[in-house]
Amino acid sequence: MAALLPAGQDERKTLMTEANGQLFKTTGTRMVHAGWRAAWQPAPVIDEEEGEDTPSIPAGLRPGEAVAVQTAEIMAKATKAAPRLTDASLLGLMEQHGLGTPATRARIIEVLLRRQYVERKKKTLHTTTKGRKLLAVVPASLQSPDMTGHWEARLEAIAAGKEEVSGFMQAIRQYTTELVATAQGQTTTTLAPAATLGSCPQCHQGTVGASPRGWSCSRWKEGCPFTIWRDVAGKKLTVPQVKVLVAGKTTAEIHGFKNRAGKTFAARLTLNPETWRVEFIFESRTPHKSRGAAGV
Ligand SMILES: [Zn+2]
Repeated sequence: MAALLPAGQDERKTLMTEANGQLFKTTGTRMVHAGWRAAWQPAPVIDEEEGEDTPSIPAGLRPGEAVAVQTAEIMAKATKAAPRLTDASLLGLMEQHGLGTPATRARIIEVLLRRQYVERKKKTLHTTTKGRKLLAVVPASLQSPDMTGHWEARLEAIAAGKEEVSGFMQAIRQYTTELVATAQGQTTTTLAPAATLGSCPQCHQGTVGASPRGWSCSRWKEGCPFTIWRDVAGKKLTVPQVKVLVAGKTTAEIHGFKNRAGKTFAARLTLNPETWRVEFIFESRTPHKSRGAAGV
């Protein structure tokens, strides 16, 4: 014989206590109906929000009642960052703000992932640099879930015959015009993260990043001429190789350079700390093997 016991019921209470001009918050739980816990001794008080037992609040307290402070202790604690969103918690938030429908919500998250605004690390979702840059340039009104919620409400009103389509479309048209005007008035913003290859070895103030010609100092406008050309003797340098050079080190041997006669050769590269030019370092004086040479 088995009998199913009822779930029981707790009442969660928050009390504010004022002492010496300071407000103190007390939260606690009071069991209203024991339910299944009647058969479970001692009965645990389970708080679903915090996932642990919470203190119980004595019954019979009345607002304004004076109580004595028995002890006081100052504790140093650090605030905890809000937990990372997961697919499940983000879906919940979207539902709460009226974003998407049950059929489209998961797909909206997939689009964010595919466009690399968000990335998934194990189970949690993290914004990418690209995503944060986008948020930095998109007007606040467009970022607000209220806007979509507001539109959805108006569309429902139209569907119910309480609002005219023309009024809604007129407002959308005006808003779009404003958005485009704002975007056009903005100075150019790079959406892709400006990868830095290190601090500028020449001026020590700027950072080295990709430029139309190769890699240059971010302070080129201020007159820092530091540049590493994209091509060295017909060979395109890679980002890791440029990083090595910017750090003032010598690269590993790189194959595939071509001299003026069209012969290929291999060399290590280094940055001359006086001329700030990339120079070749040859491993030995023996004639280097050339892929184009006869007999290879
Ligand atoms: Zn510089």
